[in-house]
Amino acid sequence: MTMLKEGRPTAPAHVNKEHPDPATATRNRALMLEEPLIFEIGSTETTGVDFTPVDKPASRLGGLERKRSIGLPGLSEQETVRHYTRLSRQNYAIDLGLFPLGSCTMKHNPRLNEKVARMPGFADIHPLAPVATVQGALAVIHELAEWLKTLTGMAAVAMSPKAGAHGELCGLLAIRAALEARGDARSVILVPESAHGTNPATAAFCGYKVEDIPATPDGRVDLAALKARLGPDVAAVMITNPNTCGLFERDMKAISDAVHAAGALVYCDGANFNAIVGRVRPGDLGVDAMHINLHKTFSTPHGGGGPGSGPVVLSEALAPYAPLPFVEKLPDGSFALVEEETAGEHHAGSFGRMVAFHGQMGMFTRALTYILSHGADGLRQVSGDAVLNANYILRSLDGVLDAPFGGSGPCMHEALFSDKGLAEGFTTLDIAKGLIDEGFHPMTMYFPLVVHGAMLIEPTETESKAALDQFIMALRSLAERAKAGDEALKGAPYHAPRRRLDETLAARKPVLVWIEEALAEAAE
Ligand SMILES: *Cc1c(COP(=O)(O)O)cnc(C)c1O
Repeated sequence: MTMLKEGRPTAPAHVNKEHPDPATATRNRALMLEEPLIFEIGSTETTGVDFTPVDKPASRLGGLERKRSIGLPGLSEQETVRHYTRLSRQNYAIDLGLFPLGSCTMKHNPRLNEKVARMPGFADIHPLAPVATVQGALAVIHELAEWLKTLTGMAAVAMSPKAGAHGELCGLLAIRAALEARGDARSVILVPESAHGTNPATAAFCGYKVEDIPATPDGRVDLAALKARLGPDVAAVMITNPNTCGLFERDMKAISDAVHAAGALVYCDGANFNAIVGRVRPGDLGVDAMHINLHKTFSTPHGGGGPGSGPVVLSEALAPYAPLPFVEKLPDGSFALVEEETAGEHHAGSFGRMVAFHGQMGMFTRALTYILSHGADGLRQVSGDAVLNANYILRSLDGVLDAPFGGSGPCMHEALFSDKGLAEGFTTLDIAKGLIDEGFHPMTMYFPLVVHGAMLIEPTETESKAALDQFIMALRSLAERAKAGDEALKGAPYHAPRRRLDETLAARKPVLVWIEEALAEAAE
């Protein structure tokens, strides 16, 4: 905790020789305002609200009432608003600048999406409202579902999963239901080395044994190794395509054929669909289930754990096992919700529910707005521009940063670099911290695990050439400093509200409550 109370960072001499950086009495730096924790400004003895005193009611908590004060700080409305506004200015956002996080697809979210999502007919409806009163909302879910099926060439789609990882769970539950229905419960899921961490986690969560499939030296699934491992105990393979090295799995059809021949099913992690939307239909590649991150490919904002939406497209083989409820268009053109009570024999195979209701309505409206405003041709251009931008970064840093797969042709939507060639003692972390001083969010680091000191950069299609050039210039400068062994880089960031924190301690012993004893315990 002491680190929070330390003085704000002072830049070393090299940062600005012309103008010294004098300390201010307030520790504010012009518009960059130093902000303490809310517990440090608000007294727990005061309240910002003028309540009428009430007689202490008789407790109905059976002796379980709180013994000590709840300890919430009391602030006036203005103090509260200022606190959160000041904090928000210390944050980085897609609306401030380029967000190069690989494997995340942080793209601009058009304001039109927000306007539509906030229309009262979508925003203010209740999931238990009678179906006859929410026909428009159901029509939106249905139309989006049709688009997703068309874009992926798949037979069905489950709209309710609320994130990519939740979609993976949905896909594996459908796969398990299909295998059990044919009396062939299998126990192993194969996951390539380069998989996103959520893939093995989901398989393990479902109770499967997870086994690795190695990558080839050019960063793709080793088809021969996969074929050699297939057998009667393998339920499915989970393959990310394009993969987390930013490469298209060219053998995808051969992989699917081999997996199907062995009686197993193919799960495709479609979080990187942004790179291929409008160009490749996963259904044509033999995929049985794939989640789509609406909050990546279809622009809706994300971060900090939500909100997200991860619809799962399903092949003919898996469609009968899709979760309930779902929207069905009736012959008279109206829409119905198929629930347990109404599913009937036709959907008797459903594995159950993923969520209490129907999924993320706000994300559905945003995604459909994005799709309709782009049209089919516009979506095709999205993937083209996203891939072009990533290759522009990859080639612009030729000879500056090591690109482990740069020699094996163009990348897809993200460019992957390693720490090879940095001076002794300099790491990917130093470059990431340097980027903060340069006014950028760092790239994804140390992922994928198959590359040493990985730096994974995904610019997306929404960045202009001018923005890319500025980012490349910053990265080039940092790479050159790290290669030349510029010691000052090891102290970066100098200009951020906080310097280098003890991230391991923060992850291992997070202090999530403001209680003096807890703080003392954590300090030990
Ligand atoms: C983002 C991502 C996921 C997980 O999606 P969430 O919505 O964060 O749960 C899975 N796989 C890949 C390749 C991803 O990029």
